[in-house]
Amino acid sequence: MCIFCKIVNREIPVKLIYEDEFVVAFDDINPTAPAHFLVIPKIHISTLNEITSENSNMLAKIFEVIPKLAKEKGVDEKGYRVVANCNSEGGQEVFHIHFHVIGGKQCKWPAV
Ligand code: AMP
Ligand code: ZN
Repeated sequence: MCIFCKIVNREIPVKLIYEDEFVVAFDDINPTAPAHFLVIPKIHISTLNEITSENSNMLAKIFEVIPKLAKEKGVDEKGYRVVANCNSEGGQEVFHIHFHVIGGKQCKWPAV
């Protein structure tokens, strides 16, 4: 079972900042900004390439949760960045889809 599935199953004790039927969110263990949390689907989907019409409903849930949590973290007004890395050139290290939400500092563009 992947590390994020273990977090979903409460086999790794991570403090969740949000949980519902479809989604959990928690602070990134290695934050790159004052606010850096991850929003993930409860179902295991390894990469963005595995999103299909059968499982894409979780995306709407994730994007409902993101602005709520950004507001709770106090970064909604100044702004934040949402990042999803896919496979090696995308910089993906954990192969369970997740959306990074990064705020509390000025993000740079281009990101690479
Ligand atoms: P990515 O490179 O997009 O796959 O990012 C994976 C992210 O997961 C990294 O930012 C890690 O710091 C984060 N991460 C890995 N393990 C944990 C954990 N146990 N709790 C919180 N964040 C984690
Ligand atoms: Zn998983």
